[in-house]
Amino acid sequence: MNLILLGPPGAGKGTQAKRLEQVHGLKQLSTGDMLRAEVAAGSELGQKAKAIMDAGQLVSDEIIIAMIAAKLDTPECQNGVIFDGFPRTVAQADALDKMLTAKGCPLTAVIELQVDEDVLVDRLNNRISEMTARGEAPRSDDNAETLRKRLQVYRDQTAPIIPYYERKKTLRSVDGMADIDDVAAQIDAVLNNGGPMGAARQLRP
Ligand code: AMP
Repeated sequence: MNLILLGPPGAGKGTQAKRLEQVHGLKQLSTGDMLRAEVAAGSELGQKAKAIMDAGQLVSDEIIIAMIAAKLDTPECQNGVIFDGFPRTVAQADALDKMLTAKGCPLTAVIELQVDEDVLVDRLNNRISEMTARGEAPRSDDNAETLRKRLQVYRDQTAPIIPYYERKKTLRSVDGMADIDDVAAQIDAVLNNGGPMGAARQLRP
């Protein structure tokens, strides 16, 4: 089983991906986590990516596609993958399609977490206050200004992959504003019985 979790930053993709890893034995592939590991390691790629990430912009398709291609061939990905934060452009979606076709393991579903952007900004501010209270430092791209930029980038560059997957009939949408267990239950319903195709149209304004 290969899944994409799609949705703007802060929609809860990482939380749901971690649960799907445990329940279904899939491997979470988060391009954001891979890039942060490069930044932490101080690699050349990490140094290049950091400024782009801090500005809320997208790292180049070429770099991201090469990162995913290298991971897909590792043994830990052979039971299936949850793509988290990838693809973020139509070019990335096309490249993924070709990679999975070549491996003979197509996408099972693209699950879109639909959320209200204003609530995401509130959630982020709450998260930062909680972290500050615990004496923890937020991620360097974790602030309201960068989030707004990232939401704009999502609308401009990532949202066009929604019709792309609608055409391929792999898109399923769930209400990402529900609480974590409820979102998880909606995702399980999609995986168990294909889920309601029409939900996307009902939830999106
Ligand atoms: P994330 O943790 O998925 O929100 O990603 C953090 C940042 O890493 C993003 O704001 C981008 O700068 C970069 N990034 C992560 N995934 C991608 C991707 N698929 N394409 C381009 N840039 C990405």
